Amino acid sequence: MESKFATCLNCIDGRVQIPVINWITNNYEIDYVDMVTEAGMDGLLADNSFNPAHILRKLAISIGNHDSNNIFIVGHYDCAANPVDEDVHKEQIKKAVQRIKNYTRSSEITGLWVSEYFEVEKICIIGGVNEDDSPVYEYSTS
Ligand SMILES: [Zn+2]
Repeated sequence: MESKFATCLNCIDGRVQIPVINWITNNYEIDYVDMVTEAGMDGLLADNSFNPAHILRKLAISIGNHDSNNIFIVGHYDCAANPVDEDVHKEQIKKAVQRIKNYTRSSEITGLWVSEYFEVEKICIIGGVNEDDSPVYEYSTS
C-alpha cells in the first residue's frame, strides 16, 4: 500500500512536533507528516504583511510530490516567537487557514491548537474541492 502524507505548517518549537504528528496519525489515515516550520507560524500567516512565498514553495512540494491533501496549521501555548493570548492565537489560526485556502483548493485544511498540556484541539476546518487542476495554483514545484 502506498504511504499517505499530510502536510503540517507548524512552529519551530521542539515541544509541539511529536504531539502534533501523533495526533494527526492517530486521527487520520495518514502515515507520514511533512513538517514545514517557522517560528510563530500562526501569527505570521495571519499577518497580511508577511510574504508566505517560501512556505508555499515547501507546501507545493509536499502536495505535488507526496500527494498530500490534508494540511494542518498549528498554533501553540507559550509560543516564544508569538507571545499572544490563547484567544488571539485561535483567531490567527482561523485567519491562517483561510489564507492558505487561497492557494490550494483541493486540500482539506485544519487549524490546530496545542495546549499547555500538549493536548491537540481542532479549531476549524475547511474542506477540499475535488478538482483535476494543479492543487497549488499560484506556486508549482516545476
Ligand atoms: Zn512557537
